[in-house]
Amino acid sequence: MAEKWILGEVVNVKHWTESLYSVRISAPEVKFIAGQYTKISLNIDNEDIARPYSFVNSPNEDFLEFYSVSVPNGPLSTKLQQLKKGDYINVSPNNNGFLILNEVPIIDNIWMLATGTAIGPYLSILKTKDSWNNFKKAILVHAVRYNNELTYQKTISDLKDIYGDRFIYITYVSREDSENSLTGRIPEGISTGILEKKAGIEILPDNTHIMICGNPEMVQDTTIELKKIGLKKHRRNSPGHITTENYW
Ligand code: NAP
Repeated sequence: MAEKWILGEVVNVKHWTESLYSVRISAPEVKFIAGQYTKISLNIDNEDIARPYSFVNSPNEDFLEFYSVSVPNGPLSTKLQQLKKGDYINVSPNNNGFLILNEVPIIDNIWMLATGTAIGPYLSILKTKDSWNNFKKAILVHAVRYNNELTYQKTISDLKDIYGDRFIYITYVSREDSENSLTGRIPEGISTGILEKKAGIEILPDNTHIMICGNPEMVQDTTIELKKIGLKKHRRNSPGHITTENYW
């Protein structure tokens, strides 16, 4: 069956670095739950090219936003990067994904672990006021290669202003020095206890849920470390502590 599309209009493209950018689109008919992804599509050389993208905006905002990295030779991501205000783009109204709070038990501490552009779905959740009824504290951990990939600082400082000590933001920069960030990678931060120390919060099975999103190898390696300290995958028919989504 042919995919049904809604035509959205580009309202803004923000270029964070040479490869990272965010596209804002007006498409009021598209409804979703914070944390979900949908498909977006462009016609490129007479072919419709569609890829999944997570919503970064809250469902309560009156625009859609997608955060992307231009992948060398990636047909869609390189074209999306060139979009301008007033251009049109297809957005699917059929949304998916397990990184949504109705899939997660109500809990004290929710950890949101991301590499690169996978911070997007967490920002959607955190910008949605009702989300904060589902947990006491949110610990957002963003791992990137370089300092200038620590994007969305204004959104993060706005969240800090609203939620104070309930919101903890930790960064990893792995390939250059960074004043306030951890070095290395998330899985080793779990095995050494450095991540818990930095957050000032213990990862205990009875008060923790962990969402992991991004680089598939990071998702896998992090899950292994969490299992070693007693956490298990969360499934609808068998509740646990870990929810994951691979970004490519
Ligand atoms: P990345 O390689 O995912 O690195 C981001 C952070 O994750 C870095 O700090 C990196 O540490 C860390 N990391 C990498 N592998 C890990 C592992 N196994 N366990 C724990 N942490 C790990 O970099 P990126 O710039 O976000 O993405 C890289 C490339 O992936 C992009 O340039 C793009 O080509 C592609 N990509 C594709 C898509 C897609 O939808 N197709 C989406 C996003 C990215 P290290 O520096 O130590 O490696």
